[in-house]
Amino acid sequence: MADLQVIEIFDSLQGEGYWTGTPMTFIRLAGCNAPGLGLDCVRWCDTAGSWDPATGESLPVEAVVERVHFPRLCLTGGEPLLQSDGVAALVAEAHRCGIRVHLETNGTIAPPPGAPAVGADSWDEQSFDWVVVSPKPPGFLIAPEWAGVIDELKLVVDEGMDAVTAERLALESRGAIVSVQPLWDGSSRKLSEDRAVRLVLDHPDWRLSLQTHKYLGIR
Ligand code: SF4
Repeated sequence: MADLQVIEIFDSLQGEGYWTGTPMTFIRLAGCNAPGLGLDCVRWCDTAGSWDPATGESLPVEAVVERVHFPRLCLTGGEPLLQSDGVAALVAEAHRCGIRVHLETNGTIAPPPGAPAVGADSWDEQSFDWVVVSPKPPGFLIAPEWAGVIDELKLVVDEGMDAVTAERLALESRGAIVSVQPLWDGSSRKLSEDRAVRLVLDHPDWRLSLQTHKYLGIR
């Protein structure tokens, strides 16, 4: 079975988005394509230590799944789908063990063949159970293969996220839950919070997502 290049595995509460407050085991994979694509999120990324694809350790997927202690794991990065073969194997192994798989992706890479989300009641071998796509500025590109299978669209409110862009992305995401999330860091935090609140007030179907793990001082 395939290996994964893993930076860290840890238990915590999901801090943001629809599943906020839910215990999960987080698996952070190495590598990110945002710097190579010239995406603006590199300016405010809070996981820059994940960009190097050689960082961390190479682990068989069985060893990774053995370290999952909760009914749900969250696959994050970096960009997890840079390791799509290993990710597909991980999903299959997790499902074999009765564990749901959440994916957090920037959306630039198509899902592994056979892997789009199909809903929470399925244990299809390679299907994710929850897909969060967080498209990045300046282009906010989402690979067309994600059409119709995004569960949650996470919009991080930096200066590039205006109402027109947010509405376009919500429309393209076809019914996905829209989570609007302020930036946490630095001098732009208050401005970002104000803009995020305004966006949600103006779009009552959307919801505010706060990075509650940072407020709590947990991982
Ligand atoms: S895609 Fe995610 S991990 Fe990569 S630079 Fe952007 S915010 Fe950071």
